[in-house]
Amino acid sequence: MLRSVILAASRSSQVERLVATAPYTRDVVRRFVAGAATDDALRATRGLVDDGLAVTLDHLGEDTVRPEQATATRDEYLKLLKMLGDAGLTPAAEVSVKLSALGQMFDEQLAYDNARAICAAADAAGTTVTLDMEDHTTTDSTLEVLSRLRKDFPSTGAVLQAYLRRTESDCRELSSAGSRVRLCKGAYKEPESVAYQSAREVDKSYVRCMNILMSGDGYPMLATHDPRMIAIGEDRARWFDRGPERFEFQMLYGIRPEEQARLASEGYTVRTYVPYGDEWYGYLMRRLAERPANLVFFGRALISKK
Ligand SMILES: Cc1cc2nc3c(=O)[nH]c(=O)nc-3n(C[C@H](O)[C@H](O)[C@H](O)COP(=O)(O)OP(=O)(O)OC[C@H]3O[C@@H](n4cnc5c(N)ncnc54)[C@H](O)[C@@H]3O)c2cc1C
Repeated sequence: MLRSVILAASRSSQVERLVATAPYTRDVVRRFVAGAATDDALRATRGLVDDGLAVTLDHLGEDTVRPEQATATRDEYLKLLKMLGDAGLTPAAEVSVKLSALGQMFDEQLAYDNARAICAAADAAGTTVTLDMEDHTTTDSTLEVLSRLRKDFPSTGAVLQAYLRRTESDCRELSSAGSRVRLCKGAYKEPESVAYQSAREVDKSYVRCMNILMSGDGYPMLATHDPRMIAIGEDRARWFDRGPERFEFQMLYGIRPEEQARLASEGYTVRTYVPYGDEWYGYLMRRLAERPANLVFFGRALISKK
């Protein structure tokens, strides 16, 4: 119920104005978003890489409705990738891209063209791209764009969401050699017809999907902060004899940083997802909606790093 309310609020410009002007909002945003400018993103990346973590950078923004906005997002990624390459931060840092920020909502071909330009820039900089997954109405389109991009840029990564009923089958499709797949639980409000609704069902699906990916031939990227899922991931890595070059853990910037450091110190590859830019509202609200306890967590986040 609370999750639905927060996710509905994530698309309300009135609530956005309210949240943006609340007294402690800036402090919370600063904890979970690297900053507004490209330089801020680079600075955060340098710090994480120096601490032994890999990084994926997300320029915040989604649901773009104007072609010039989509082009501006593309250009920001091109600039970012050039700067990452010049700073020697590739291949440790890659980028995460939302197709809806590149025009997917009104012109799939435009989104493909923009994504292709970003993949080419990533390739030139010695790194790669992962396509974020958004709500279920975009899944087919995103997987279609992915398969077109992979023809020229085979290391382009996909995200699959364990809460969707279709995902086990998508995992089977995408567990072939060279295929990079980020497995997450899923962050959007989805109807029962397409998605599991209870945390228990989602967790069981996550484990089934993890089993498929970890026993397959691709490169699994286990994106979760859930201690149980992480422990099962470590277990499966031993079981399927996957070393740090054959799978990775991923977590969000500012969430469980000590767990990220622990896993890295134990020799696992750990990648931190680093969002930056002005359009933090939808991102922050999804983090709040993930579970009611996150409301408390966000309060505590201001004083603790655990
Ligand atoms: C790298 C990355 C990329 C992502 N990309 C996408 C994407 O493209 N599309 C998409 O839909 N979603 C994406 N997500 C979000 C994801 O779908 C989940 O909404 C989000 O990760 C929360 O699920 P969870 O597995 O972390 O655990 P949850 O089910 O939220 O929590 C389970 C347990 O994990 C621990 N935990 C969770 N959060 C915290 C916290 N903040 N602090 C302390 N402990 C915590 C707690 O013990 C909690 O009980 C991404 C997540 C990550 C990490």
